[in-house]
Amino acid sequence: MAPGADARVRRPPRIDSVNPGGGTRVSGTTHDDYTDRYARRVRGMTASEIRALFAVASRPEVVSLAGGAPYVSALPLDAVGEMLAGLAAQHGATTLQYGIGQGAPALREGICEVMAESGIDVGVGASPDDVVVTVGGQQALDLIGRLFLDPGDIVLAEGPTYVGALGVFQAAQAQVRHVPMDADGVVPAALAQALADAGRRGERVKFFYTIPTYQNPAGVTLTNARRDEVLEICARAGVLVVEDDPYGQLGFDGPAPLPLRARRRDGIVYLSTFSKTFAPGLRVGWILAPHAVREKLVIASEAQILCPSAFAQAAVTGYLATMPWREQLKTYREIYRERRDALVTALADLMPAGLTWTTPAGGLFVWAALPAGLDSKAMMPRAIAARVAYVPGTGFYADGGGSGHLRLNFSFPPPERIREGVRRLAGVVEQELAT
Ligand code: PMP
Repeated sequence: MAPGADARVRRPPRIDSVNPGGGTRVSGTTHDDYTDRYARRVRGMTASEIRALFAVASRPEVVSLAGGAPYVSALPLDAVGEMLAGLAAQHGATTLQYGIGQGAPALREGICEVMAESGIDVGVGASPDDVVVTVGGQQALDLIGRLFLDPGDIVLAEGPTYVGALGVFQAAQAQVRHVPMDADGVVPAALAQALADAGRRGERVKFFYTIPTYQNPAGVTLTNARRDEVLEICARAGVLVVEDDPYGQLGFDGPAPLPLRARRRDGIVYLSTFSKTFAPGLRVGWILAPHAVREKLVIASEAQILCPSAFAQAAVTGYLATMPWREQLKTYREIYRERRDALVTALADLMPAGLTWTTPAGGLFVWAALPAGLDSKAMMPRAIAARVAYVPGTGFYADGGGSGHLRLNFSFPPPERIREGVRRLAGVVEQELAT
């Protein structure tokens, strides 16, 4: 949406109007008396299609392949509960007190240990001093947006890309240009072309936002060879790389390629989160940034939240120090491998010809392409009526792309539920093809 356009034009989808079963009304307001009072940047803000879908998708009769929730029931909940109960007793009042803006030193050390598992270690300059603790990956993205984006700036991002990042870039009034991917991740020649095109037009590209490993939503992973190429292209153009890596430790078919940040330390801002590897309810993530950037990030974060939750930080620190978190990663990987297999097997067994999909080697999502001519957003009311939910592809593009695609999640529903969801969805696709 162009900055300055009227927010009323793009109100959130009226889920109630697409759901013949009725239920909770989640449609947006049709009239907003405050419109003239909002800041200009608010005019570009619209409700995420995914959030609007949740109300419908969370009904028990609906098989939801729409979410992105990790399967936290796989945690040893009793042991985690005991650890949490012991925090106040062990650490006294500090868990209930304000902390420092950058985040607790003990947690930043723990985060460096976690990053070392992915190959980002002290050798490539990951010191606790360069880490900023955030309220999940989402605040990390928001801080990066605040630091680097002026209205009208250009951000390059994979197409499709993470919907929450699009929300941040749009709130900053930046323009997002998508760079296409194939089965090997973002296409380096297309990235080089996008940078060259912007350069020719005298436009300022502020950064390339990428989720190179087990991408959300596409489920693809940038190959080793392409990682070096992408770094080279961005370095040559003097463009910052923002590497978002929430899924890198959730590979089921062998280890992931080294993160970009493990290959180069300059010109990269790296972010990750405990949301998928431990628990999203704690809202703890982080940024690893070059030193000067780190200083600005802390100032911006203090202006926004003063400091991250001391209790949540203590919970993650305690988890890393006292619980077998590497084993837990293995457990998550095993569960997700089984569910990924259930999803792709069901797609192969049950879907009509013409529907194709990615087979991710990790992460939480499969990206499917509908047979030619079908529209995933238009199909959604029929899917909800058939008691299955997915996320239409358009939510993952800033430019209206993605109507022929949909995102399917496999981390949360158990395998038999996944198969039932695909069976229902296959019926819907068949009907669409017949009409
Ligand atoms: N980046 C990506 C690519 C994500 O998929 C997510 C979560 N879905 C986030 C950032 C946000 O992470 P968090 O839940 O920790 O805020």
